[in-house]
Amino acid sequence: MTNYILKKTSDKGTGVFATRDIRKNELIFQVNLNKFIKYTPEQLEQAVRENPELNGDHSNYAGWGKYVIEETPAAYMNHSCDPNCYFKMKSISVYSVYSLRNIKRGEELTHDYTACSIDQFDGNETWVLDCNCGSENCRGKVTGDFFKMPKQWQVKYYQYLPPSIRRKYRNKFKFRSKN
Ligand SMILES: [Zn+2]
Repeated sequence: MTNYILKKTSDKGTGVFATRDIRKNELIFQVNLNKFIKYTPEQLEQAVRENPELNGDHSNYAGWGKYVIEETPAAYMNHSCDPNCYFKMKSISVYSVYSLRNIKRGEELTHDYTACSIDQFDGNETWVLDCNCGSENCRGKVTGDFFKMPKQWQVKYYQYLPPSIRRKYRNKFKFRSKN
């Protein structure tokens, strides 16, 4: 039995919607990116160019410099700066989608794209999207760099990053030791 359905939205393409009431911190579904073909950024660009059926908007980082075209429900989740879901990451490529708060049946499931965007692009350039999520705390611009999020969001989402990443970047998270 699933907790969600994919549905077209009026303004944001396809979205993912709850098919029942979901309690805070419930597991909604799991994702394993290792089952998809892995590409370097150059290979990915070429593959998308040559195969119109591949959806480049669904590219996702799978670790070790490689990207995949992710055909999972997660790839259809829209961003919100005030999301109702989070990704608990076992590794960069294996994660579980959990509810961040109670969700009503019929509500769209959203997550913060930046919260799970880490260790990509060798820390150099990254993607930037204009955000019109409409939430009170909308950041206006959403980037693919975890460390560009406001501190309070970094603190909130840090615990859900993969253990290997938390070890790798622990010096960047010094602010946590003040708590
Ligand atoms: Zn926003």
